[in-house]
Amino acid sequence: MGLIVQKFGGTSVGSAEKIQNAANRAIAEKKQGHQVVVVVSAMGKSTDSLVSLAKQITAQPSKREMDMLLATGEQVTISLLSMALQEQGYDAVSYTGWQAGIRTEHVHGNARITDINTSAVEDQLSEGKIVVVAGFQGMTEEGQITTLGRGGSDTTAVALAAALKADKCDIYTDVPGVFTTDPRYVKSARKLSGISYDEMLELANLGAGVLHPRAVEFAKNYLVPLEVRSSTETEAGTLIEEEPSMEQNLIVRGIAFEDQITRVTVSGLANGLTTLSTIFTALAKRNINVDIIIQTAAGDNKTGISFSVKSEDTDNTVAVLDEYKDALKFDQIETESKLAKVSIVGSGMVSNPGVAAEMFAVLAKKNIQVKMVSTSEIKVSTVISENDMVKAVEALHDAFELSKQASVV
Ligand code: ASP
Ligand code: MG
Repeated sequence: MGLIVQKFGGTSVGSAEKIQNAANRAIAEKKQGHQVVVVVSAMGKSTDSLVSLAKQITAQPSKREMDMLLATGEQVTISLLSMALQEQGYDAVSYTGWQAGIRTEHVHGNARITDINTSAVEDQLSEGKIVVVAGFQGMTEEGQITTLGRGGSDTTAVALAAALKADKCDIYTDVPGVFTTDPRYVKSARKLSGISYDEMLELANLGAGVLHPRAVEFAKNYLVPLEVRSSTETEAGTLIEEEPSMEQNLIVRGIAFEDQITRVTVSGLANGLTTLSTIFTALAKRNINVDIIIQTAAGDNKTGISFSVKSEDTDNTVAVLDEYKDALKFDQIETESKLAKVSIVGSGMVSNPGVAAEMFAVLAKKNIQVKMVSTSEIKVSTVISENDMVKAVEALHDAFELSKQASVV
């Protein structure tokens, strides 16, 4: 007998029928003799609807009230799922995040879990109940309701699995697993049977929406065996683990991409000690997320900086820089939009030099100009024109043989 944590995302609990389907999934594990905890998201797009309701009331809702509002979404699902389980003759109980002992820091809208007191959940499990927990929410020490950031139910599930020392955490979703790249764009994309925590963390941070990055962080830190799988099909999904055993050791495991990137170039900057900190502190204060940063030397005590931002932040970025024109003494700001970021990710890069070189060669062969580059130990990201994005991903997917079937080693 083991302990299984299951998580169902919004689309997997989007109707009464789907909630019944989720209940059946929980019952199937229970019948195997396991203890079962189920973490759920709000139904369908209901969190989006709540956000838009708030926007109809005020352009700037207070963060505390926003958390009060959004935390209601998950409560609808827990009670309905519990009823569905009871209807089938199973003992079930629903818990909000705070009832399940989920403590967070005092940050509204994007709180981190600091601690989980699992005693209430454990008591219920030992009585044989299926425990249904609201994802995405917690409570501060002072008793304030917080939420964990959009997509945060994954984090609730993995954190609970870690705290309960669960044997497994299954993330049920509307896709059958983690793919080599987005199958909506690349026909030959393949479902991976396994991927490492580090690779998944890179992909999640690069915007592969299938898992919340913090959930992967938790899984990695506490070695929680995770599986991303379909809530409608019974086939195996993708295992996320320390060393994926079922996958061939390919150098590149996946390709992530994202459009609507803008490159901002500030030239003729005073090359002072505080220039960089002034620019990036000012942008951070306005919540502008800067991604790739490149500094160029220009002699004469002058320097230049290029960095990338999401295109929606372009106007704000330029406005912030203009405010600091006197302190920074730059000549001009140029922006180039309609760019995309294409990244290759794979643990095999650590021990295989020349992967970046190969990536650049593949892009050059397709006449694709690289405008910015950034790397980590297991990732190479390039910024290219948005028009070339899909062509680049296809060429790289081909060159690094990502559509090849996995072979057991
Ligand atoms: N309901 C929340 C959201 O839509 C949390 C989640 O689904 O994970 O972001
Ligand atoms: Mg999600």
